Amino acid sequence: MKTELRKVYECEHCSKKMFSAGAMGYHEKWCKKNPHNQHKCFKLCRFLEMKTVVDWSDGEDGHYHYEFRCKSTGQYMYSYHLEKRKLYAFRKLPIDAKRMPLECNMFQEMSYDEQCQRFGL
Ligand code: SF4
Ligand SMILES: [Zn+2]
Repeated sequence: MKTELRKVYECEHCSKKMFSAGAMGYHEKWCKKNPHNQHKCFKLCRFLEMKTVVDWSDGEDGHYHYEFRCKSTGQYMYSYHLEKRKLYAFRKLPIDAKRMPLECNMFQEMSYDEQCQRFGL
């Protein structure tokens, strides 16, 4: 029988486990349950507008990313997803885009009817 004792690293946000401290540090930074990545806009705010933008400039394969705008303020925004992929997508953002807030006093939750309309339920 072969037995091996190894250190296991656990994400403090979602409890995922890994053997590599470096990989776990990266995961924790971008973990969707990390409070720093919990954008208020994604909690079904009725003012969040989302558009898919396809870019064909790199050749035959189109790349896409989402463009977010707050209908209340007109502000273009980006989420932690785009921040994580900054090597490609960050450069494609509207110049004045800001990181989505984690708290917002203008937040209004969508009604059930609005959710059905938005998500085709
Ligand atoms: S009102 Fe606030 S929470 Fe809603 S989309 Fe705009 S910035 Fe985001
Ligand atoms: Zn996690």
